[in-house]
Amino acid sequence: MNTKEIVETDVVVIGAGQSGLAVGYFLRRIQHPFVLLDAQLRPGGAWLHGWDSLRLFSPADASSLPGWPMPRPADDHTGFPDRQHVIDYLTRYEARYALPVRRPVTVQAVSRSGSVYSVQTDTGIWRTRAVISTTGSWTHPVIPAYPGRTLFQGVQLHSAHYRSPESMVGKRVLVVGGGNSGAQILSDVSRVADATWVTLTEPVFLPDEVDGRVLFGQATAQYRALQDGNGPSPAGNLGHIVMVPSVQDARSRGVLHAVRPFQRLTPTGVVWPDGRSESIDVIIWCTGFQPATEHLRPLDIVDAAGRVATSGTRAVDEPGLWLVGYGSWTGFASATLIGVGRSARQTADEVRAYLAAPVNSSQ
Ligand code: FAD
Repeated sequence: MNTKEIVETDVVVIGAGQSGLAVGYFLRRIQHPFVLLDAQLRPGGAWLHGWDSLRLFSPADASSLPGWPMPRPADDHTGFPDRQHVIDYLTRYEARYALPVRRPVTVQAVSRSGSVYSVQTDTGIWRTRAVISTTGSWTHPVIPAYPGRTLFQGVQLHSAHYRSPESMVGKRVLVVGGGNSGAQILSDVSRVADATWVTLTEPVFLPDEVDGRVLFGQATAQYRALQDGNGPSPAGNLGHIVMVPSVQDARSRGVLHAVRPFQRLTPTGVVWPDGRSESIDVIIWCTGFQPATEHLRPLDIVDAAGRVATSGTRAVDEPGLWLVGYGSWTGFASATLIGVGRSARQTADEVRAYLAAPVNSSQ
């Protein structure tokens, strides 16, 4: 395909990380031509960019995409697969089901004329009746607007770009953010540096025996209870911190405690709420991500936070557009390996019904 070429198909899936692959698995069954377009050179989605010591917080058998269970790692001492294991799994999954992935192809803009969508990419244009966006959020790290942030002359990086603590030996490091990323990176960095963990509120640690599988089950029960109008149950929150071995290690070293945020940054460090100034060399922002949806902006449906109004996974204001894998607003637990299957199946069913219906000429 050259940059001027136009190709027609029935369904274009944008992104071929875990969400795109799960969607592809179910699209194979609906017997319409489809393609997955992915910006990266090789399979793995966001897992290609995690830090070296990153591990899943759920065991392999609770981290599977539809159809093929994730194999247990051969040298599984911890019970939690590392990110290379996930990359290998996604690579083999894509090959196993012969999913029609084109890469590297970056989608720049999606627009619609009547019932036909134009998917503009750096290698040409795809015309299609249905678009499924599965672009995740890893490419869009969020850093909160602290006063003085641009004055700080030390190193600042987001967890999206953190790889290892090698360059931080003996330095004074702030790890900002109270989720699983913050806890795991604090553990990593505190082995070689003078690290302080900064969180908005006191972190909530799950019991040691509660891993991602238990957590997912609890959160599912909570979700169903809410849907049935029975109110939340007290246990199970996918945002609480799972005590993976590295976090337990930080606890045993006595470093797993957090302080509340500083007031502002200065050129050389931070000022704490009690007025005390402290010199800091490095700040690692483990402060989350926002959906990578700028390619949908020409449709005029994307809000300032990158979200699109959806009913399930289907865009409310675009008849042939679905969004999968971005988080609870596109399906319960859809941003997890084990959770995305449900959203993917429902999406493929809806796309099949949509493609079977007569084209609405008023669109
Ligand atoms: P991604 O993996 O980000 O894939 C999106 C793909 O779309 C990428 O390949 C990207 O290059 C491509 N793309 C983006 N924009 C475009 C474009 N314009 N054109 C073409 N292609 C594009 N989940 C679990 O189940 N268990 C865990 O233990 C777990 N641990 C986690 C730990 C951390 C620190 C984080 C951050 C997440 C963790 N997750 C875990 C969550 C989850 O698995 C990931 O967020 C997951 O990568 C989301 O998959 P995705 O396919 O939706 O997005």
